[in-house]
Amino acid sequence: MPRPLITNKQGKQALERIRKIKPFVQASLNITKKRCGNPGCRCAQEGPLHEVALLTWKQENRTRTLYVPIELRQEVERWVKEGKLLKRLVAEVSQAQREFLTSKKKSRKSKRG
Ligand SMILES: [Zn+2]
Repeated sequence: MPRPLITNKQGKQALERIRKIKPFVQASLNITKKRCGNPGCRCAQEGPLHEVALLTWKQENRTRTLYVPIELRQEVERWVKEGKLLKRLVAEVSQAQREFLTSKKKSRKSKRG
């Protein structure tokens, strides 16, 4: 038998959602415009410029970027969204565990009178 989860209702709900987490990335997706460098391309003269998607994140205090191919842009957007959700859920479970400890302290005190 697995041990019962020691948490409160909020913590249980957040853990339940973490269990269903899909692939994620903790980064942001930025769309920027640039020239492709081909002198024969429309962007070299009048435009419009090409849209480029870049994944940006911090690693060891440095900002890192990675080019995202257009066909993966929507997929990567989902990863970023999921990454934000996971971050929020991690904070919710931490909060729930702290509240659990606080409630224990209170009930022990009240029992003692
Ligand atoms: Zn171009």
